[in-house]
Amino acid sequence: MPETDGDPPGLTVGGTQALINLEDRHTSGAYPKRPLAIVRGEGIWLWDAEGRRYMDMTSGQGVALLGHSHPAILETVRRQAELLITCPEIFYNDRRSELYASLSQYTPEDLNRFFLCNSGTEAVEGALKFARLKTGRPGIVAAKSGFHGRTFGALSATWNPSHRRGFGPLLPEVSHIPFNDLRAVDAAIDASTAAVILEVVQGEGGVVPAKGEFLELVRRLCEQRGALLIFDEVQTGLGRTGRRFAAEHFSVTPDVICVGKGLAGGLPIGAVIWRDSLGKWPQGSHGSTLGGNPLACAAATATLSLLDSGLLEHVAQVGEKFLADLRELEHPMIREVRGLGLMIGIDLRRRVTPVLKALMERGVLALPAGPTVLRLLPPLVVTEEQLIEVFDAMLEALEVLEDE
Ligand SMILES: *Cc1c(COP(=O)(O)O)cnc(C)c1O
Repeated sequence: MPETDGDPPGLTVGGTQALINLEDRHTSGAYPKRPLAIVRGEGIWLWDAEGRRYMDMTSGQGVALLGHSHPAILETVRRQAELLITCPEIFYNDRRSELYASLSQYTPEDLNRFFLCNSGTEAVEGALKFARLKTGRPGIVAAKSGFHGRTFGALSATWNPSHRRGFGPLLPEVSHIPFNDLRAVDAAIDASTAAVILEVVQGEGGVVPAKGEFLELVRRLCEQRGALLIFDEVQTGLGRTGRRFAAEHFSVTPDVICVGKGLAGGLPIGAVIWRDSLGKWPQGSHGSTLGGNPLACAAATATLSLLDSGLLEHVAQVGEKFLADLRELEHPMIREVRGLGLMIGIDLRRRVTPVLKALMERGVLALPAGPTVLRLLPPLVVTEEQLIEVFDAMLEALEVLEDE
């Protein structure tokens, strides 16, 4: 069992079982849940309601880039909360203008226009609407195994039938090509295509990186045929792969980038980012009540500045080392190791769910990506030594399961 470290914090509803009972009574039911009640976090560590400590290799689904409760984020949020929490975009605001300035320093070339919202799926909705508006065309080309979110537009671009089933009809004029298939993408982009939307490394779809020649071809075809190229970097962006954006590994610059997840150090946020040359939204044509609120903006500015203080080099270095160690292992239960930076997928020759459970019992929290892929998204501040601990826990888990 995981280590117990200090007393559990003061809880109002009792221990784990009481929390589970209360949540289960009222939860939507939409989420597959683990029997674990998390009540505190610090750095790469999480504590459950019994005071047990876990290494968080999920980063809360890719969100806690800087680890949990980073002191600089805490201080920023605390200070801003005392000043001003909400301020709609009908007014100007100091924290929002600061974030725009930082983002435009952070983004490539001339991608200097931003629409701020509250989640990844909302960023994807914004990008798809923008593409139709700007091109006057209806078509969206997305990739098989791609994931873009759960609202109707984003869901239409998402491929996995188990996410789509029961919700049709979805958006018309959305097609799905096999990821990394050069001939298919050439055939799919035509005069009715508003945009091609892709993840640079497919996350939920099994941690599958794009091929450089595929991205280069898509870039060229979009330009020739008047379609926008949208990269959904909600999971891959902001240092996860060891670069500011995963697209930089391939020297391909899209017209539009969607970000979300960790942009505001754990507070809800999303953003659509696009080229100056595409112009603006017509006034009143889009909006989001909580988008661009000062609290999230302040946290995001602090996050960007921390990402740019040597963290990307750290991610590239420890990520490369960890991936090399995993590949060297040649474990009989591992089919393939894929990834970029600290976005790691270990494709197993068995179902991943029991492995996740065995890891949890050894104090390591990890994610699945499809039925057989173990996905690790550690906070970017994770150390080489901590990753070795994760490596050993994984070996132990695989060994125990092999014996069963
Ligand atoms: C998580 C994710 C989304 C959806 O983000 P939400 O904040 O859950 O709406 C979209 N695209 C990708 C690539 C993601 O990983």
